[in-house]
Amino acid sequence: PKYVFDFVEGGKDLKDLLGGKGANLAEMTRLGLPVPPGFTISTEACRAYLAGGTVPDGLFDQVNAHLQLVEERLGKALGDPANPLLLSVRSGGKFSMPGMMDTVLDIGLTDVSVQGLAAQSGDPRFAWDSYRRLIGMFGKTVCGVPGEAFEHELDAHKSHAGVATDAELSTADLRHLVDAYKKVFHDHTGREFPQAPHEQLYLAIEAVFKSWNTERAVLYRRQERIPQDLGTAVNVMAMVFGNLGPDSGTGVAFTRDPATGVRGVYGDYLANAQGEDVVAGIRNTVPLQELERIDRHSHHQLLSIMDKLEHHYRDLCDIEFTIERGKLWMLQTRVGKRTPAAAFTIAAQLVDEGVIDLDEALRRVTGAQLAQLMFPRFDRAAAPEPLAVGVPASPGAASGRVVFDAARAAERATAGDKVILVRRETNPDDLPGMIAAQGILTSRGGKTSHAAVVARGMGKTCVCGADALDVDTDSARFTVDGTVVSEGDVVSIDGATGEVFLGEVPVHPSPVARYFEGEEPAGQDALLDAVHRLMLHADRSRRMEVRANADTGGDAARARRFGAEGIGLCRTEHMFLGERRALVERLILAETAADADGEREAALAALLPLQRADFVEIFEAMDGLPVTVRLIDPPLHEFLPPLEELTAKVARAEALGQDPGRDGALLGAVRRMHEQNPMLGLRGVRLGLVVPGLFAMQVRAIAEAAADCAARGRSPRPEIMVPLVAAVQELEAVRAEAERILDEIGGLPHVRIGTMIEVPRAAVTAGEIAGAAEFFSFGTNDLTQLGWGFSRDDVEGTFFPRYLGMGIFGVSPFESLDVPGVGRLVRMAADEGWAARPDLKIGVCGEHGGDPDSIHFFHAIGLDYVSCSPFRVPVARLEAGRAAV
Ligand code: ADP
Ligand code: MG
Ligand code: MG
Repeated sequence: PKYVFDFVEGGKDLKDLLGGKGANLAEMTRLGLPVPPGFTISTEACRAYLAGGTVPDGLFDQVNAHLQLVEERLGKALGDPANPLLLSVRSGGKFSMPGMMDTVLDIGLTDVSVQGLAAQSGDPRFAWDSYRRLIGMFGKTVCGVPGEAFEHELDAHKSHAGVATDAELSTADLRHLVDAYKKVFHDHTGREFPQAPHEQLYLAIEAVFKSWNTERAVLYRRQERIPQDLGTAVNVMAMVFGNLGPDSGTGVAFTRDPATGVRGVYGDYLANAQGEDVVAGIRNTVPLQELERIDRHSHHQLLSIMDKLEHHYRDLCDIEFTIERGKLWMLQTRVGKRTPAAAFTIAAQLVDEGVIDLDEALRRVTGAQLAQLMFPRFDRAAAPEPLAVGVPASPGAASGRVVFDAARAAERATAGDKVILVRRETNPDDLPGMIAAQGILTSRGGKTSHAAVVARGMGKTCVCGADALDVDTDSARFTVDGTVVSEGDVVSIDGATGEVFLGEVPVHPSPVARYFEGEEPAGQDALLDAVHRLMLHADRSRRMEVRANADTGGDAARARRFGAEGIGLCRTEHMFLGERRALVERLILAETAADADGEREAALAALLPLQRADFVEIFEAMDGLPVTVRLIDPPLHEFLPPLEELTAKVARAEALGQDPGRDGALLGAVRRMHEQNPMLGLRGVRLGLVVPGLFAMQVRAIAEAAADCAARGRSPRPEIMVPLVAAVQELEAVRAEAERILDEIGGLPHVRIGTMIEVPRAAVTAGEIAGAAEFFSFGTNDLTQLGWGFSRDDVEGTFFPRYLGMGIFGVSPFESLDVPGVGRLVRMAADEGWAARPDLKIGVCGEHGGDPDSIHFFHAIGLDYVSCSPFRVPVARLEAGRAAV
């Protein structure tokens, strides 16, 4: 097969084959932009390599053939002692994984060709600098030599020469450094640094293939929900040099501010530097505007290229570029990552600019981004003076105990601490700590540093480049103006302003959350305006209704402000809590009373007015909108004191020679009702069929509350939902009793009676069940538990981490619906339900109703509504809209 593609052969739509970087390098080449020549080895070759463990047949022949084309174009050859061609070998999968995989620069330098490069460039210092970079990078990424071993030598040479930065090292210093690096290489690998340029190239290609499966790359993909089996492409291209003196340099830039979405170029530039120097935050960069002063011509050309790219991709692009002695080269572009606020703002801007339509704008924002915008912010009024101010790199308000290394961060987070990871700068090895932390704080680097890019990608709060901080990792503390902050001390960081505070700062609702609460924005705010317009379009476009899960009048009112179109799940169990527990106890103990029926009726009669009042409150808040009330679901003994507590109490009383009285009777009941597997026990519809009068009381309370509201001119729309039904006979029995009560009370509009579908047997017999149900609501939490046969409350602490690690599932099936398994049950049940009763209304309640991926699935199979917690309602509205455009 053809594994290798010249840049002129590819294009931006070939990301599956060429990876994002390769596809976009090809696209830029075709647009006629100045891209150094090169070629891409496909992801297919990587997959073949990873499957077989060896380089696929013929790959290196194809590489050599393409290399020859590059050599001809440039009139230089790899390994030519007089005029050597140098190459970069770069990873790049379909989805961007910043810094997660490997890149090797300056391939082709040897003891011989370094002399050629020195002569040809007229700059020996540059040649030796490049050579030491190659040995370091090659040693680290290809041969696994620890990076610190090289850094240690670099530091030693800098202090020996009495200079602060690597740019000040002389040619002689660098020659010594090369010798030292070679020794480090030999000490760690047991072999000499390879002097055959083609061997360097082949080994680097293999190393890039392998870097797909490094621990940090696997972890990053799991975090970002990127499939593990895609493989990376390898880009091989001619080097251009930003380290050829003051008229050379390298930089990164965005066509709009990725933090706020504000229009206008934004970026960082570093003169006389190569490659990763910018991203690694090794030296402080200057803002891109400065380039205008340094190199007017390149600056001008860069802006015009950025403009061209924005128009071409019709979106914010980020780019990497290098200037070699006044000549601009493009090294990378892609549609850039951005903060949630920027995502909304840019989408709306592009609509205003006539670049995209509203449907496209809606596709470009996500529910996850909206959820982040609704997170609380620091309460400015309650904040102390900031300790320091850094670069606001990724928004959010995070407080936690400071830790100074990734392993510690992960450790303390697992133990339940909230932590802020503090580093001088981060590198890919810090990933586990970044994932574990609430926020990330660095003392070096700008908006394009590793910490900033990764944090933005993960939606983590990040303040970087807070250079007032003197970070001392070894003694686990940092100092600012004499204030010492040690591991375990609490700090708060504001990713929107860059402020760092000592201690925990209180939070309050974000402007977007306040907007959803119905508060009018003060003045013209670009973000709120964008959110408003995109929500409007989502509501206009979506087919599914969005309801909320709410159990109280307060929750119902809030859900309504957030745009809920009814309640999809009103749980009634809280109506049995608090002071009402005594009544539940009485109900349970009635069974053993002399006049069992009388006692039970008395207990239920006492509960009735209380429940009725609860329902009145909820129907008022949801006036005119449907409210699906679920009859009581959990086992009754959950309302009794725990067994151990009662046993101890009774034993104490008996030891003191006292009569345990009511406690003794309760203990008897608890023992009697004890179940090995309460989740599979006497609960839901079973309870309603076994405890006489319980469901009847609830139905009566619903009906009377509705009648009461209606009498006051309101339009209550109650629906009655029966939980845990597995057989149509169960539902028929409940329904018969409920209809009798509804008829008896009378004067109500039709009250629909339906069921949850949350037991696999119900899903499988949905056609029959539809005969007795006017609506279905999928309880996907229980359906997932019972479908997989594991309990949600127990999996996290036992085998889930391992299962996620092994890739048995990429994301917890409780977080996002398991489409092939549980999803299949849902689809099947819905189809059979509709076949039996075409007007059957079908929705979903439970966590999945607020999960973006699951919402798209529910839309696709034609469900009528989703119901989720009030705070997720805007997210569900947005995603239901996105699913429909
Ligand atoms: P990442 O995916 O981590 O950004 P890249 O493959 O983009 O890794 O390489 C890192 C850096 O190396 C780039 O930002 C660029 O500055 C530098 N680089 C890559 N290829 C070349 C090249 N051909 N000439 C000069 N610098 C290069
Ligand atoms: Mg890059
Ligand atoms: Mg349930």
